[in-house]
Amino acid sequence: MDICIIGSGLSGLSAAYALLKKSDKFNITILEKKDVIGGCLSSSRAGRGYIEDFYHHCFSGDTELFELSKELGIYDSLEWLSGSTGYYVNGKIYPLTTPVEILKYPHLSLIDKFRLGKFVLGAKKYDAAEYEDVGAVEFAIEKCGKSAYKSFFEPLLRGKFGDAKDKVSAAWLISRVAIRSDRKAGGERLGYFRDGYNSLIESLAAKLKERGCAINTDTPVTALKYNGETKKWSVNGVEYDAVISTIDPRKLTEIGGPKIIDGEIHFQGAACMSIGLKREVTDGIYWVNMRDDAPYAAVIGHTNFVPRERYGEDIVYLASYFCKKPDGNLEERMLEDFLKRFNLGRDEINWYHLTIEESAGPIYTKGYRRLIPSAGREDLKGFYCAGMFSEEN
Ligand SMILES: Cc1cc2nc3c(=O)[nH]c(=O)nc-3n(C[C@H](O)[C@H](O)[C@H](O)COP(=O)(O)OP(=O)(O)OC[C@H]3O[C@@H](n4cnc5c(N)ncnc54)[C@H](O)[C@@H]3O)c2cc1C
Repeated sequence: MDICIIGSGLSGLSAAYALLKKSDKFNITILEKKDVIGGCLSSSRAGRGYIEDFYHHCFSGDTELFELSKELGIYDSLEWLSGSTGYYVNGKIYPLTTPVEILKYPHLSLIDKFRLGKFVLGAKKYDAAEYEDVGAVEFAIEKCGKSAYKSFFEPLLRGKFGDAKDKVSAAWLISRVAIRSDRKAGGERLGYFRDGYNSLIESLAAKLKERGCAINTDTPVTALKYNGETKKWSVNGVEYDAVISTIDPRKLTEIGGPKIIDGEIHFQGAACMSIGLKREVTDGIYWVNMRDDAPYAAVIGHTNFVPRERYGEDIVYLASYFCKKPDGNLEERMLEDFLKRFNLGRDEINWYHLTIEESAGPIYTKGYRRLIPSAGREDLKGFYCAGMFSEEN
């Protein structure tokens, strides 16, 4: 059986892996438009190692990832590290990891801190599905009060979703807070592969190649259609018995694929600048959210999470999300702002690069679950979908 998988991100690679585990009779070809594999999990060389183009870590509940990494033989390289957090307000970084730091934080009243703490600690008790049609904004205000919302949640939601924040579902907020409440005294407990996520992508790709799967980079799928006579799917003119799409459903229809979503799904883009530095800038903190206005929503001190010695330099990410594609000056605007804000000279920067992905993830709007398509459909024989927007999300 000939199968074509569109996209070599984690979904495409793991779909191929799952199929080849079931049978070696599947003849699989993965087509990838970029010149590298991995999609949002691609990496670049940095110092002595590799660094993800978009920051990554995993959570204790990512059981499928753990299973996969066991099968690939890299589970033992998964390390559990502490991710400390802070907030950048009025030109100053406030650490917000330990209870004492939170108590000392001057931009929330004691009552706001109490309500916020109660909500965070109780988040796991909510059934997120029940809050599908409630807005995240109204929910946060109801649970934590207007002033805690304004000074804590609003900057986070604005940074993550921009103007789309008012459409976001409370189900997303509840799940996100619950996922992020695995904390110890030193910070959030987060997992990271010793050799980076590059080791996951590369070992997955190696296993696939070993089993005869072709991975063709620089090969965008531009024409997809069903041939009623042969009962096969034509992908760029080549016929396959089945197709698995892992791409943004809106882009799928642009290349001739079926409309797999009833309604409108919103995707957001991400722009991440990774920077190799001669010195540390976030006061030893891993994740600093920006409450001040800046062309990025967070400064992520990667080497305050993963030991600096691995790279021989400090590495930070400037992370920003967008709904409307940013203008061509984003790189310069991000860099200029960062240098000025953190009193850095250009000579203190070893290297930098900006990665932009327009379809970085679906926006979990109110009613999102009803939009999620099933993996396969009776009326679309031989057509399947997987990916960030799919059922298993
Ligand atoms: C900034 C950022 C940070 C993140 N951090 C985390 C984290 O810490 N922890 C976590 O668990 N998750 C994180 N994620 C999410 C995680 O990266 C994604 O869920 C996962 O990588 C999605 O994989 P995917 O294969 O579904 O999609 P993608 O990685 O988007 O893969 C889709 C692939 O399809 C290719 N493609 C698109 N169109 C075509 C075409 N026409 N023809 C051929 N190929 C095509 C794309 O180039 C891409 O390679 C993060 C995401 C972002 C953007």
